[in-house]
Amino acid sequence: MATVASAQQPNFFVPFQLPGGGMLNLSIPVPHSVPAQDVGQLTDGYDLVTYRGTPCRVSQADLPLRIYSVDPACQAITQKAANVWNRVGNYFQVVNAPVPGAIPIQWNCNLPEGAAGVTTMKKGPRGVRISGIAIQSLDIPEGSMTEVLAHELGHTLGLDHSVNAQDLMYRSMHERPTFSGDDVRITQRDYSMLTWLYHQNNTVPILANR
Ligand SMILES: [Zn+2]
Repeated sequence: MATVASAQQPNFFVPFQLPGGGMLNLSIPVPHSVPAQDVGQLTDGYDLVTYRGTPCRVSQADLPLRIYSVDPACQAITQKAANVWNRVGNYFQVVNAPVPGAIPIQWNCNLPEGAAGVTTMKKGPRGVRISGIAIQSLDIPEGSMTEVLAHELGHTLGLDHSVNAQDLMYRSMHERPTFSGDDVRITQRDYSMLTWLYHQNNTVPILANR
């Protein structure tokens, strides 16, 4: 971030004429300049979910998205994956029952073309409807389920794929150079794109499963 920060802000002095004569200098610290709100930026080599060219994202009113692990044993992984995005905003709430609007997450799925995870979404003029997330648990390193699910959750927010292998939204989990295990984090590029997307007004809504 290109901000010039100084711990020692200069003071300026306001002279006051005292009633009995004489002057009093009031020292008033110059207020820190308010940093410009981080509005993110379009990131090179990084795609968004779009409908007819318009980016798609969840409406603020629909956040946090509710997600539900069909396998109760995977509830902890689900929460960890949600936390990856919740570090930078209120994006996901893990629920422990298939309440209306909650996106179901299925595990141990047999997915086409060796995909590690799939988010199923149906696009239409009124919005993009997410019907669920399926995770395949066989051909990726142990401990990486959080990362795979966090990647799929990125799709539900409207992020598509990045060409940068460090980014969480890199196109192929199978080609990732390293897995983060439990310490999954989004990169600055993921963050910047997400922030940009959630500052746009002209978007198509992504709708939860209802
Ligand atoms: Zn993907």
